[in-house]
Amino acid sequence: MSESTVIKTKKRFIAGAVCPACSESDKLMMWSEDEVPHRECVACGYSDTLNAQGQSIPSELGTRVNQSAPKVANPKVQTVQFFPNPKLKKPEA
Ligand SMILES: [Zn+2]
Repeated sequence: MSESTVIKTKKRFIAGAVCPACSESDKLMMWSEDEVPHRECVACGYSDTLNAQGQSIPSELGTRVNQSAPKVANPKVQTVQFFPNPKLKKPEA
């Protein structure tokens, strides 16, 4: 028995998410493998992962989605949280 199993979460559709490749909405599925978020579009087959910064890393499965897309992935898809720098905030005591 090994404990180094990759923990996969169930795939599920992201409501309101727009595919960065084909711009179809509600076609993106998301799941996590070993706490790495993966996304996949069921409409065009586009898939990517998100890095620690929440940025899209397209997988290299196919170059057909390798178009110079001016559109960035829908920010709604990425649940990134930017924590404010506490040093910038003066606590009002
Ligand atoms: Zn797509």
